[in-house]
Amino acid sequence: MQQFSITDFRQQFPILQSLVNGKPLIYFDNAATTQKPMCVIENQSDYYQHSNANVHRASHALSAKATVAYEDARQRVKKFINANTEQEIIWTKGSTESINLVAQSWGRSTLRPNDEIVLSHSEHHANIVPWQIVAEQTGAKIKVLPLSETGIIDIEQLEDVIGERTRIVCFGHISNVIGRINPTAEIIRVAKKYQALTLIDGAQAIAHIDVDVMALDCDFYVFSAHKMYGPTGVGVLYGKKAILEQMPPYQAGGEMIKTVSFEQTSFNELPHKFEAGTPNVAGVIALGASIRFLEQQGHAALFAYEEQLRAYCFAQLSSVKDLVFIVAGEPDIPVFSFSLKGQHNHDVAAALDSVGIAVRSGHHCAMPLMQYLQVTGCVRLSLSAYNNFQEVDFAVQQLKILTQSVLETCDETSSNTSHLRLSASNNHNPIVSNDLTVDDVLAMFAKAKGWDSKHREIMLLGKKHVRLSVQDKTEQSIISGCESHAWLVCYQETSGKFRFKGDSDAKVIRGLLAIILAAVNNKTAAELNAFDLDDYFSTLGLLQHLSPSRGNGLRAIVKKIEQLIAHSNC
Ligand code: PLP
Repeated sequence: MQQFSITDFRQQFPILQSLVNGKPLIYFDNAATTQKPMCVIENQSDYYQHSNANVHRASHALSAKATVAYEDARQRVKKFINANTEQEIIWTKGSTESINLVAQSWGRSTLRPNDEIVLSHSEHHANIVPWQIVAEQTGAKIKVLPLSETGIIDIEQLEDVIGERTRIVCFGHISNVIGRINPTAEIIRVAKKYQALTLIDGAQAIAHIDVDVMALDCDFYVFSAHKMYGPTGVGVLYGKKAILEQMPPYQAGGEMIKTVSFEQTSFNELPHKFEAGTPNVAGVIALGASIRFLEQQGHAALFAYEEQLRAYCFAQLSSVKDLVFIVAGEPDIPVFSFSLKGQHNHDVAAALDSVGIAVRSGHHCAMPLMQYLQVTGCVRLSLSAYNNFQEVDFAVQQLKILTQSVLETCDETSSNTSHLRLSASNNHNPIVSNDLTVDDVLAMFAKAKGWDSKHREIMLLGKKHVRLSVQDKTEQSIISGCESHAWLVCYQETSGKFRFKGDSDAKVIRGLLAIILAAVNNKTAAELNAFDLDDYFSTLGLLQHLSPSRGNGLRAIVKKIEQLIAHSNC
């Protein structure tokens, strides 16, 4: 077996040398997207510098060069997943579009009322919503496969769900939350018994295990380039040629036609029938480069390293007191989903981010799975072959610090927040709020050097923030657009001044609320209009450091304040 050197491998990813929030980046969000090696980055820019032309269309040399590289990538993908012919490889913009293509082309033309589409409880929204839409359009029904204790699709119950009415069974090869390989061969066998087609969502599997579509004998297999060190905006739909040939086009336009007249149009051969318009030529060619890159590393050696890393990370995470995995037992790929008892998932992710560790928290585009497992969300660490053991150690150390509630014990000694107190409530003012001023906040943040200190101040504010009563947490007070649940209520005094109070189940959002409310409380509408919130946030250094999604949370709070003032229903 070829040797795998983690040092050499890592060096090929320039982004891994970055500092994030002043700390070396530890990128543990690979299930969302992987980083790109230099050869893929250079491939894209090289294409634009030396080969850019539209494919299949012109008779000039540059177009021929681009077309050769573009079709060479198709050959590589065909070989990579062991398809029968390159006509079975359709370019899309990602797994999501591949599934939509099958749902709208095959599904819409084939499904009849009461036909059944079988999914599983662990699907990504990309493998649920397209089927719901086509079910609505055709009168077909959706049925759902249950999971076993270990989080894989339960083979004992396959035939309780798959039956005579089943037309297609669509499931993830590996769930993006659970990280276990589903019993794919068995599911395909049962689907075939009932002449149902199978679609496998390989978005998570493609970077971590060998995929052989002929051996699987599935009808469709989908994946995205960006999860396997390739570019964003390119994906693959593999489909058996005989089935693809029967399917009508998905989108119409140039390239997917043979002849067009106003009376009649005839469609192109596979795979072009499904590739309307100018494709992502640079991206497709760069996907070819990412496959070449993977092959050069030696698949077996790379997977063997990942396996060691997976086992090590699982053992280390298991040693964290109060860490609860979303399902019991070891995942098959290095994707670990868990919560820390007593801590909001969003707070855990924000704390890790403050020391440079990128993870994801929330529902991971798998809301039905969260409901099935009766959790509101989880934190996910997803590793790749460029991650190393030291990074795992550092993350685990940070999680241990979090569970030991270092923030809780330190805050009495170092907090600047002694000015936090309840303002006296009076008969006219039912809102009890923190009496924190803009000057207090500015002073606090002026002392905080670096993002981790700012994050710490936000968390301390969040901890001291006066909570809303259950009665105040209503549909009307909810702030939509925040990553966690958040609420805002307000009251206008007879003097015309507004008093706000907010709450969230995440400490970090409570801290942000405290900062915003310090700026907006006790102001009239005119004073609020004159106050430059953007300037305030940027002086605090929050705009630069908060991720767009959390930034949106911040924006969502501001929007809610504006709404409350405008409607004066506070
Ligand atoms: N399916 C699974 C299992 C995924 O994890 C993802 C993305 O995270 C998708 C589908 C959608 O992939 P894309 O956004 O690349 O279309």
